[in-house]
Amino acid sequence: IAVFTLISATVAEFGFNILQTLLLYSITVIIGLTILTFVEYPLMLKLFTKMNVVKFFKTQRQVIAVAFSTSSSAATLPVTMDICEKKLGVPNKIASFVLPLGTTINMDGTALYQAVAAMFIAQVYGFDLNLTQQLTIVFTAALAAIGTAPVPGIGLIMLIIVLKSVGVPEEGIALIIGVDRLLDMCRTVPNVIADSLACVVIASSEGELAPMNLDG
Ligand code: ASP
Repeated sequence: IAVFTLISATVAEFGFNILQTLLLYSITVIIGLTILTFVEYPLMLKLFTKMNVVKFFKTQRQVIAVAFSTSSSAATLPVTMDICEKKLGVPNKIASFVLPLGTTINMDGTALYQAVAAMFIAQVYGFDLNLTQQLTIVFTAALAAIGTAPVPGIGLIMLIIVLKSVGVPEEGIALIIGVDRLLDMCRTVPNVIADSLACVVIASSEGELAPMNLDG
């Protein structure tokens, strides 16, 4: 009901065309998150570890399911920890340091989403952002994502900082609030996969990575 009301208010202000625009915006975010997860992360895994990419992603199924349904990296942390230690072979001393830290500061999905959302809102308001402003968005989105709490919806609140950095009206978040829950579910997935990835990369660089245990 709340989401319907928010979308109604947006449609009343901007007309029915805004729905199509919101759909394109959501698709853009989802494509970005997909590239991040299935191109950039495997590349990192290949570059910094000897782990098989397919096997790594197989271990992440449960992590992905919990992250997607709760939209919270914090709620997913116990599962991420369990999988990292039992299946990926990361020792507890590394997992128990890297994962809680990564859960709070390592949010690639959120950073990507905030950058796309800021550009989208700027375009709807008719702002013609120059290259410096676009780079400011990228930089502040990276910082805002570090400050985002690992719970549902906070990425949207932190977006205000990004919008303020380039002078775009922060009321603009009302435009996207209606579709935010869905995008939150989607961006939390790369957020948590990145934590497992960081854990594996660090354990591997320390020579502490035990063999994977896919049956355990
Ligand atoms: N829900 C995200 C997370 O917990 C944070 C956000 O982007 O709102 O990872």
